[in-house]
Formats: sequence, C-alpha cells, structure tokens
Amino acid sequence: MKVSRKSFVKSAALLAGATILNSEKTEAKINYILAKMDKDFALPPLGYNYDALEPFIDKQTMEIHYTKHHQAYVNKLNEAKAKIEKWNFKNLEDVLANINTIPKDLQAAVRNNAGGHFNHTLFWSLLKTNTQPSEKTLKVINQNFESLDNFKQQFTKAAMGTFGSGWAWLIKQDGKLKIINTPNQDNPLMKGIVKELGTPIIALDVWEHAYYLKYQNKRADYVTAFWSVLNWDKVEELLIASSN
Ligand code: MN
Repeated sequence: MKVSRKSFVKSAALLAGATILNSEKTEAKINYILAKMDKDFALPPLGYNYDALEPFIDKQTMEIHYTKHHQAYVNKLNEAKAKIEKWNFKNLEDVLANINTIPKDLQAAVRNNAGGHFNHTLFWSLLKTNTQPSEKTLKVINQNFESLDNFKQQFTKAAMGTFGSGWAWLIKQDGKLKIINTPNQDNPLMKGIVKELGTPIIALDVWEHAYYLKYQNKRADYVTAFWSVLNWDKVEELLIASSN
C-alpha cells in the first residue's frame, strides 16, 4: 500500500461535518466510525437488522443497499486510494474537502465513492423507528423553519425536486439550518465542487436503488415513509455537535 504519511492518524472520524471544525471537542459526543487512513476503508456496522425499518424500508432493500451498493462504493474508493501515491488525508471528511487535490484521472472515482461511503454511513445512522424530535430540536427547527410541518414540507420538496439520482440534506451553514440537494454522491463537505457547503445534519438517499423494490416510481411515498424512520436522537446529537 502506498502511504506517504507514516504517522498513525487516529481521529479519522466519519460522521458529521461538525468534526471538521471541532474534531477534538466533539469526539466523545459523536458516534465515530474509525477509518484509519493507513488501512482500507470498510463498511461500518449497520447497528440494526435489515428488517428493523419495516414496513417503511423493506428488508430486501436494506440488505442490497448495504451489502451491495454501499460495499461497492467502499471497494471502488479503496481501488482509487491504492492508485494515489500521496494520500495525505487525515480522515474521510478531509478527503471530501480536498477532492480537487487528487490527480485528475482519479478525481471522479474519489468524488463518487468517497461521497458514497460518507453519505451512506451517515444515512444508516439516521434511521431508526419510533423516535421523536426533542423539545430542544423542535425549538431549533421552529427557529429556522417556523414549524416542524413546514420543515418537513420543504425537505420533501427538495427530495422530490432532486432530478435523477442524488440526496436531500439538512445542513448547518453559517449557524443556520438550510435544506439543499446534491446530485449523485456529492455532499455538502465537498469544497470546490458543490455550491452549498455546510455540516450535514440529515441526509436522505433519493437514488432509485434506495426505494424502487418497495415503492417503484413512487418516490413521494418513500419520502413520506422516511419521516417514520428518521432517527431524531441522531439529529439532535448532530445539531449539538454542530453548535459546539
Ligand atoms: Mn444509496
């Protein structure tokens, strides 16, 4: 393996853009997935069974999405990484923020697959049934979007308005919450690539592979179902981490 940097980089966090700015301060608060930069990237533990989100997200979709799609992003990221002599990145977020420094012929591979790895890892952690926004979270949502209903409407609009494959996001940008979408596997940590940069708080995969088996072409039904499996505890954790 080509590793130009010998120092063992320990932090290498994955979740939450918050860690970019506050890696030391937020380390204990965030459910870190260690991605040692001298090792290959790997699928993170899902943390629940494939059927845990039934009936909103079906078992077969979860299994294929995690073991095939996400695994493929991880594999292709490792293939690209192996070809890059100067891999001087601290962690995955650092890769995402510096895609422009990657040799031109490998930029697309790293952009698509490092993005895919980060986005899916965050997405899995944001899924859980039967959670509710806390008072604190509601207050922040109300401050930024007037009401939870209004927030959901705007987020749904962004998810539905993503043409083709992509993601809908709630991000923290300059201290404010903002809803955006990105094409393909781009994300709001990709400096110099996406227009809207920020700390990811909520991510929703709107690629057809995320919902087609159960919902076919009915993306709206999938987005509606998402509200039943959004892990509000994780949202709160990321909101807090992004404020520190
Ligand atoms: Mn996906």
